[in-house]
Amino acid sequence: MPELPELEVVCEVLQRKALDRPILKVTVSPKGGPLVIRDLTHQGFESALTGRRLRSVTRRGKFLVFALDAKDMFLAVNPKLSGRLQLCTPNAKKVGPAHVVLHFDDPPEELRYVDSKRMGQLYLTTDLELIPTFSQMGPDALQIDAGAFAARLKPFRGEIKGILTRASFVAGIGNAYADEILWAAQIHPYRKRPSLTPEEIDRLYRAMQATLRQSVERVRQAMGGDIHLKPRDFFSVHMRGGEACPRCGSPISSVTAQQKITNFCRTCQPGGLIRGMSSPRAGGNR
Ligand SMILES: [Zn+2]
Repeated sequence: MPELPELEVVCEVLQRKALDRPILKVTVSPKGGPLVIRDLTHQGFESALTGRRLRSVTRRGKFLVFALDAKDMFLAVNPKLSGRLQLCTPNAKKVGPAHVVLHFDDPPEELRYVDSKRMGQLYLTTDLELIPTFSQMGPDALQIDAGAFAARLKPFRGEIKGILTRASFVAGIGNAYADEILWAAQIHPYRKRPSLTPEEIDRLYRAMQATLRQSVERVRQAMGGDIHLKPRDFFSVHMRGGEACPRCGSPISSVTAQQKITNFCRTCQPGGLIRGMSSPRAGGNR
C-alpha cells in the first residue's frame, strides 16, 4: 500500500512530468474501470477529462489530487491497498491491470492507474469535500505540530498502532510506516494510548516526523522516475520478522491480526499484551 513517503515522491515526479499536457484520450477498462471510478459530477469520466490538462497535483494524506484546467474540477486518486500509478511510454511493460489510462502526446506517454485488487478509487468531483474519506481526514502527518498531535491523541483509548493508522487522527500513515515509526520511538505497538506518558507521546511525534522525512529522501533516491515502484529495502522492522533488530540485535517479532502483519522488537519496544496470546513469548508467532 503506498503511504505518505511514496505518494509524496510520486507527487513530485508528476509535478515535473505530467502537468500542462493535453490529455488526448482516456481509456477505461470495461471490467475494472466501473469498480475504481467514482464520477461525482455525473458528467461522464472520459468526456470530462479528454482534451483537458492537469494543472496541479498535490498530496493530502494518502490521496493525490489533480486539479484540471476546467474550473473547479478535480481528479482525486486514493490507491488504497493495491493501487499505483505508472507514467511510461505506450509500449512499456504492464506492471499490473490498468483500469484507467490518460494518454499524453509530445512525447507519447501514458499515466496508468494499475490496481490488482481494484480496491482503490479515482474520484472526479467539483468539490473535494464530497468525498467522504477525504472530508473526514485529519491533518497530514507531515504538517501537524507536536501540540496538535498530543491534543488529537487524547480522545483515543485503543492501541497506539491502530490510532496512528487511522486517517481521521492523522493522515498518511499505514501499516508499514506505523511499524517503522513505533520502532523508532521505542514504543510497543499494542500499548494502549492512556498508558503513554507525555514524554512518550513527544518521542512518538518526533519519531513520526523523522521517520517520514528520512523515508521521503530514501524513496526519492530509489524511485527515480519509476513511480510504480515501492522501495522499502531500507525498512528497519516492517516485513523483517525473524531478522536481527538493527538497534539491539534481538530477533524482530511478527504478529498477524486481521490480515495485517505487525513487526516490532520486544527488547527495544517493551510492554503491551499480545492479543490472543497467553504470554508475550508463547507460540511460534515471533
Ligand atoms: Zn531491538
